[in-house]
Amino acid sequence: MMTMGSASVPTSSDFMLRINCPCCGVRDYTEFRYGGDASKPRPPHGEPDMRAWHDYVFLFDNPKGPHREFWQHVLGCRQWLILERNTATNEPGVARLPREWRTR
Ligand SMILES: [Zn+2]
Repeated sequence: MMTMGSASVPTSSDFMLRINCPCCGVRDYTEFRYGGDASKPRPPHGEPDMRAWHDYVFLFDNPKGPHREFWQHVLGCRQWLILERNTATNEPGVARLPREWRTR
C-alpha cells in the first residue's frame, strides 16, 4: 500500500498472489502454473468410461471461497503442489506436495 497525501493507494504488490512452495519458500504466483481443480477425484488409470473422463476434464464447478487447486512451480523446483486458495479473496492458504495431502 502506498500513501499519497491522506489517501492510501493500492499498488500491484498488494494484489500479488504469493505461494509458499514447500520446497522453495514464498514466491510470486507468476512462477507457477495453475493445474486445475484438486478437489474432485481423478478417474482410475485405464478407466474405459469416456463419460467419466469427459466429466473430469471438461466439467468444472466455480466455487466461491476456500478451494483446493493444483499448481506447478514451473520456474522453480517444478514440483506439483496442492494449494488451498480462497477464490473470493485470492488469499492463499497452505501449499503441500500432493503425497502429503493423501496422508492427512
Ligand atoms: Zn518450488
